Amino acid sequence: MRLATIRTATGLRAVRIDEEAGRAVETGDADVRALLEHEDWSERAATAAGPVHDLAGLDYAPLVPTPEKIICVGLNYRDHVAEMGNELPTHPTLFAKYAPSLIGAYDDIVLPPESQAVDWEVELTIVIGRSVRRADATTALAAIAGYTVLNDVSMRDYQNRTKQFLQGKTWESSTPLGPWLVTKDELPAPDGTGLAVSTVLDGETVQNSTTDQLVFGVAELVGYVSTIVTLNPGDVIATGTPGGVGHARKPPRYLTDGATVVTTIAGVGELRNTCRAEKS
Ligand code: ZN
Repeated sequence: MRLATIRTATGLRAVRIDEEAGRAVETGDADVRALLEHEDWSERAATAAGPVHDLAGLDYAPLVPTPEKIICVGLNYRDHVAEMGNELPTHPTLFAKYAPSLIGAYDDIVLPPESQAVDWEVELTIVIGRSVRRADATTALAAIAGYTVLNDVSMRDYQNRTKQFLQGKTWESSTPLGPWLVTKDELPAPDGTGLAVSTVLDGETVQNSTTDQLVFGVAELVGYVSTIVTLNPGDVIATGTPGGVGHARKPPRYLTDGATVVTTIAGVGELRNTCRAEKS
């Protein structure tokens, strides 16, 4: 099953995407987080029979427009750790984003005039479907509703001003999330392994890896984060990016006005965004 949050003339709506029928059906909830907050969300979404929208004209909002938490994992692909010149980590590197950084799957990425080093990072992203604290591996996997795609757009000049990543990671309207959530049963493996991961910038493939390169897998990450704080429905965890980011290239390469960046997790979804310089 595929679930999304769309913009309509009268506000946001959670929908079930019926790909073959070419339609989206409203579930009666304002967005995917509100849907997931129902304990029976899966049955509720599967049996929803609300107003119907044509798939072709859908305007996707961020999958979860206002998550309680957006947690990102740094340095979590073996190939990316190597290209950044780091040792394999013994614990996950965690940082956060805030909701105002999120945009829809096909919205423009805003390039702020203050940064000259805006970079791409395709990421398999966990969406939490039930509250969980101190989860063991089994409970952690059961708490995952499914997966989506996030492009962890990063202002490297700000990211590297200090040892804390935050100021390079949460710029306003920088981070596409979506287009939909794919439930675990639709993937080759419920833990999201075996999926091709790629970024294509203006037609050129710049990131190309698989989720088998993850250092810490999804169950391990949910277990780790939930040791610290309760994870709740609609929380998202971006699991990190593979090699091929612009900052690690020689010479470095960054996103520029008018560039089109397509970030894809095979079997999950694709984000397609044009970069637009913000008028200062
Ligand atoms: Zn990242």
